[in-house]
Amino acid sequence: MDTDYEVLIAGAGPTGLLLANELGLAGVRAAVVERLPLRTGRSKALNLQPRTAEVLDCRGWLDPVLDRSLTLLPAGHFAGLPLHYDALDTPFPHQVGIPQARVEEFLEDHLAEYGVPVLRGRELTSFRQDEGGVTATLLGPDGAERTVRAGYLVGADGGRSTVRRVLGTPFPGWDGRIGMAVADVELVAPAAAEAGSAGPGEAWRLPDLTPDPAGVAFLLPLGDGVHRLLLGGPEQQGVDRDAPVTEDEVRTALARCPGPPRELRAVRWASRFTDAARQAERYADGRVLLAGDAAHIHAPAGGQGLNLGMQDAFNLGWKLAAVIRGRAPDGLLATYHAERHPVGARVLANTRAQTVLTLPDPDAVVVREVFADLLAVPEANRRVAAMIAGTDIRYPMPDAPDHPLLGARVPGVRLPSGRGVLLAGAASTAAAATDGWADRVDRADAGPAVGAGEALLVRPDGHVCWARRDGEAGGLRAALARWFGAPRPGPSPGIA
Ligand SMILES: Cc1cc2nc3c(=O)[nH]c(=O)nc-3n(C[C@H](O)[C@H](O)[C@H](O)COP(=O)(O)OP(=O)(O)OC[C@H]3O[C@@H](n4cnc5c(N)ncnc54)[C@H](O)[C@@H]3O)c2cc1C
Repeated sequence: MDTDYEVLIAGAGPTGLLLANELGLAGVRAAVVERLPLRTGRSKALNLQPRTAEVLDCRGWLDPVLDRSLTLLPAGHFAGLPLHYDALDTPFPHQVGIPQARVEEFLEDHLAEYGVPVLRGRELTSFRQDEGGVTATLLGPDGAERTVRAGYLVGADGGRSTVRRVLGTPFPGWDGRIGMAVADVELVAPAAAEAGSAGPGEAWRLPDLTPDPAGVAFLLPLGDGVHRLLLGGPEQQGVDRDAPVTEDEVRTALARCPGPPRELRAVRWASRFTDAARQAERYADGRVLLAGDAAHIHAPAGGQGLNLGMQDAFNLGWKLAAVIRGRAPDGLLATYHAERHPVGARVLANTRAQTVLTLPDPDAVVVREVFADLLAVPEANRRVAAMIAGTDIRYPMPDAPDHPLLGARVPGVRLPSGRGVLLAGAASTAAAATDGWADRVDRADAGPAVGAGEALLVRPDGHVCWARRDGEAGGLRAALARWFGAPRPGPSPGIA
């Protein structure tokens, strides 16, 4: 195919950049186009959930991200009610406190390893697709338009996605009812010191979202005297989302924050958001795919949006790479929508529920009390924690024997090659059945997670797509063909 790129990604946010890394790792000729000429250094999100930490660790990319983090928090929250992550089955039972910009910086810098360019100052304005590819129009920094040809286009271009709009994909959902804002503020010392001058390792508090007619006002230290202020009171209601956040609004909210009085020195940046919740009806349309905020928007309740987008990218990357290499089994790419749309829908639902639990409405307040009571029960807390952490995601696996891990991710599995792996216990006969897929599926020592006669076939995204405990390999070749394509003759690999 005569293309400039095998995959063109619109948007260098966390979703587009993680996808670009996945494609680069698989040797795909990809490029990212980003409207902004420079990184802004601004961060909406401030956390990685446990599943995102697992995803990065799976490829060996977590440590450099942790080096850039501010803190580890052993809890998550549901509408401000604590969730105990130490009860989760994960090697990373915490939220990583890290500004979104630092995650993006790592991911963008890491692309150099694969030679995947991020073309900044280029806005994708339109495209058309045909049987052989996608022709996209980019508006450059000089105001000139140029077209590029790619095999596939991925819209990772955020909540107001141009790709989604040009595709005409319906984006049904709920309009925002509640206005809120965030502001990164510099406070005058010594109040700044009293408010906490977060450095690496300093613990963060969970946000206090107890319903209050005066509204929400919450400060989180980001280090170097900068604080994240979350504000949502009467002043933020009914205001246009694009209207600038005023210093008056910030001062009023600061006065409402618990603790000593604070004096504002400067507002570094501020932005409004709402609880609008919408989801693209289809994540794929021919050669064009949607991921991250382009596919779903919702309130930032519980800290999930960036995580959801990065996990979309992790689900999509290896499938798209297999299609481009011509070794994808029929229907593989369609599983991206089938698997990720329900996960997104669930996040929309839980963020809407969380919003209700923060309303100063007397009925909502009593529901919150009941909910808080339930979350005091360890099993209930664990269940909600796993949902917000993203560790309970289980994709449906057709035609496979039943097993508790089937469709779930294997905690702690490392797949730095981006290939699948067969984890087989000593007494399992499964390993021999992988002959023919040696170029796509490694074999590894199973470790303590896998019993003697047990075997797990793990996809490149860490999810189990075939499993048995009886030492037999029945159904394994069918599963290999279903997820990795037809076998090829060749030598079988040794144990990695
Ligand atoms: C106030 C607030 C707080 C939040 N806090 C959290 C949190 O704590 N935890 C969490 O997980 N999530 C949080 N989120 C959500 C999170 O920030 C988003 O879900 C995340 O940024 C989505 O990443 P993305 O890469 O899909 O999209 P984006 O980050 O929006 O990136 C899209 C990129 O595409 C570029 N672009 C747009 N259009 C074009 C075009 N036509 N051509 C080229 N480039 C284009 C944009 O410039 C941008 O760089 C928060 C959101 C808000 C609003």
